[in-house]
Amino acid sequence: MIELRDIYVRFGNFEALHGINVDVKEGEFFTFLGPSGCGKTTTLRTITGFIQPSAGNVFVNNIDITNVPIEKRNIGIVFQSYALFPSMTVYNNIAFGLKLKKIPSGKTDKKGEEGQRHYTGKELDAKVREIAKRVDLTDDQLGKAVSQLSGGQQQRVAIARALVTDPAIICMDEPLSNLDAKLRVQLRNELKAMQKKFGITTIYVTHDQEEALTLSDRIAVFNKGFIEQIGTPNEIYNHSATEFVCNFIGDINPLTGDIAARLRLGEGMNHFIRLERLRVNASEESAMQLQGVIESVEYYGLYLKYFIDVNGQRLKAVEKNDGIAIYQPGQQVTLSMHPRDIMSYPAQA
Ligand code: ATP
Repeated sequence: MIELRDIYVRFGNFEALHGINVDVKEGEFFTFLGPSGCGKTTTLRTITGFIQPSAGNVFVNNIDITNVPIEKRNIGIVFQSYALFPSMTVYNNIAFGLKLKKIPSGKTDKKGEEGQRHYTGKELDAKVREIAKRVDLTDDQLGKAVSQLSGGQQQRVAIARALVTDPAIICMDEPLSNLDAKLRVQLRNELKAMQKKFGITTIYVTHDQEEALTLSDRIAVFNKGFIEQIGTPNEIYNHSATEFVCNFIGDINPLTGDIAARLRLGEGMNHFIRLERLRVNASEESAMQLQGVIESVEYYGLYLKYFIDVNGQRLKAVEKNDGIAIYQPGQQVTLSMHPRDIMSYPAQA
């Protein structure tokens, strides 16, 4: 549906993107994930048309739109700051883009070309009310100024405004980052449900791993203007293609020095294990084992995080909270891991 082919973007002497290739399928929730400054927003802005690439092409449904102006791309956009007009009513914020939009008039002019017209007041009203209903904004809220709404409600207005023009694609740049943690999780679920309901192809930019893993059908992990890996949340998390992805997508234990030697891990490679794959006192046959002492425990309710001293090196492990096996600082424990859970990458020269 959306294809990015060898996209390069330069800002003066600085090259922000070094050959980005992405294929997004129809109806997919596709996330650009990566640390600050890695090029996620620049790639998104290349799709929306705010940035012209110095090389490469953007295709939508096999049509090259690289040189098509923003207003003709039929892409809805939701920004971090919402970009709403605070003193205008919710109704007028949603109607804003529609008032500018032209649709085929059904009539041909003297040259035989199909004419265009704006929506009539009645059509516009029907569209605004329909979309408001679909994103759960009430009639009462439609009459309020945007500044009178909560962050979560403003978020819905921004989404309604992006969807009301019937875009083929919706692009969202960190849309939840202005909200507090609890609301962010709640809206994240709503956003996913809404995207599935509308079935609209969505590109989502975030630096939040959890957000990317919970929302996305597929994720592209960016690093320094390159894409390191594209895959489903499970592929990215359990089969990280590079050390960068392995490190970025979740907490990990590096297995180095004495620990690597004891486990007889190959040289010339960097080895890692995720926290939940390092088991505490749960040895099984064929598992690799280490002895350690609990240094400290963090209690999360759903699970416990242990910091364990292994001969002067610290490893972290996460165990489900079963209410029974809760280990205390100073306690001797056996750590075990399965060889298949060790993630290994060539050591950088
Ligand atoms: P963030 O999450 O912080 O927004 P990002 O991954 O979205 O990060 P981009 O905004 O795409 O990163 O920026 C990529 C790089 O390009 C950064 O080094 C940034 O400083 C640079 N950059 C972005 N826009 C411009 C610009 N208009 N002029 C010059 N440099 C820019």
